Amino acid sequence: MNIVIIGGGFAGINLAKELLNQKGIQVTLVDKNNYNFFPPLIYQVATAFLEPSSISYPFRKFFAGKKNLKFRLGKLLKVVPSENKIILHNGELSYDHLVFATGAETSYFGMENVKKNAIPMKTLNDAIEMRNTILKNLEKAAICKDTRERRKLLTIVVAGGGPTGVEVSGMYAEMRKSIFQKEYPELGTSASNIYLIDGGPALLAPMSKASQEGTLEALTKLGVVVQLNTQVVDYVDDTVFLSTGKTIQTKNLIWAAGVSAMVFDGIPAESYGRGRRMATDAFNKVNGTENIYAIGDTCIQLTDTAFPGGHPQVAQVAIQQGLNLAENFKLMTRNKPLIPFKYNDKGSMAIIGKNKAVVDLPKPKMHFNGFFAWLIWLFIHLISLITYRNRIQTFFNWMIAYFSQDQSLRMIIRPDKTRKKTSN
Ligand SMILES: Cc1cc2nc3c(=O)[nH]c(=O)nc-3n(C[C@H](O)[C@H](O)[C@H](O)COP(=O)(O)OP(=O)(O)OC[C@H]3O[C@@H](n4cnc5c(N)ncnc54)[C@H](O)[C@@H]3O)c2cc1C
Repeated sequence: MNIVIIGGGFAGINLAKELLNQKGIQVTLVDKNNYNFFPPLIYQVATAFLEPSSISYPFRKFFAGKKNLKFRLGKLLKVVPSENKIILHNGELSYDHLVFATGAETSYFGMENVKKNAIPMKTLNDAIEMRNTILKNLEKAAICKDTRERRKLLTIVVAGGGPTGVEVSGMYAEMRKSIFQKEYPELGTSASNIYLIDGGPALLAPMSKASQEGTLEALTKLGVVVQLNTQVVDYVDDTVFLSTGKTIQTKNLIWAAGVSAMVFDGIPAESYGRGRRMATDAFNKVNGTENIYAIGDTCIQLTDTAFPGGHPQVAQVAIQQGLNLAENFKLMTRNKPLIPFKYNDKGSMAIIGKNKAVVDLPKPKMHFNGFFAWLIWLFIHLISLITYRNRIQTFFNWMIAYFSQDQSLRMIIRPDKTRKKTSN
């Protein structure tokens, strides 16, 4: 059985790992990047607390010596289901079974100016771009004589009050407290505001009321201005326009407000459901196809009675769907009945700042906040990193940052765009 997996995020990598050394199964994992990375911690790369290598790992190193697993670098362009073939930007591959584990991409809800000017928060590249932009703007502010211009450089607006928006704004507020005065004496007492904007009535929408209220209180104490029931409607000429009619002047709009899945050429239009996610049956087979599957953020499955509206787009769903599909492929090779997917919700959590986090557990229903929740958050994120190397590196960086009240990764590193390309 020749299985091709497109996408090596939480869903794809867990599916591949689970099929290791399975007799009669050959797996090719295709990804447009040559590394797996851990999205829940990219905001720590963006805020210079972690290096990119702490939360990423090359696929080829991961697959080395694993006989039935292969990696192929390539971006999927098209599927030809009638020929069991996919077209990549750099060639073609044939399959017996094809699995979409392509995740989601940033959605700007059709706002072209926001897409052009805001900093997204989805990929490792986005995180590095954000780190460089904020650090460059701090340097510009340090030599800027015009008070209005300086305020624009120092103001940060974060759109989206989910875990990412909360974590980024909390982290910048901590950074402002511990680093600005120490390292940027030129800024003196210049105003630097951090705004967190969300369209809904509460932060961390799917979490408990206690978590939502605790988060709002903690962020407000850190000096973050939270504006709820408010949407960003445009961003042009350094001005963020809000649905309330108000505006904020800033050179830093961070977009953590939405994602949508991607549409692929060759998949029938009627196979897509809400949010352009591929609609599947209980075994993750895409509706209207014979041997094509979708798992993780790119899939919507309405067959799980506990989640009639579909599963949330979170890491645990992606991991569990990858593992369940792997089990089903093994059962297929033995002609045994397949197992329908059922999501086991293990809870949700968000970190707000140093010693501050919120955790909700479903079974038994429990809520924690403060230092204990912060320790749980650190522990769960540490053990969820893909390799021991990533875990040790991240633990080491966190310890230094915690005890020194600082982090030392604030380097502006970028490719030299002026250097001419030579072909040889
Ligand atoms: C900033 C951020 C923070 C988050 N924090 C949390 C959190 O704290 N807890 C939580 O549970 N969830 C969190 N999430 C959500 C979680 O990361 C996703 O639910 C999870 O990554 C989904 O896994 P996936 O495998 O479906 O997709 P992904 O992990 O996104 O993987 C998709 C893979 O497909 C590849 N790919 C995409 N298109 C193509 C193509 N055309 N060709 C080839 N390869 C392609 C990508 O390179 C990527 O490797 C966060 C997400 C983000 C962006």
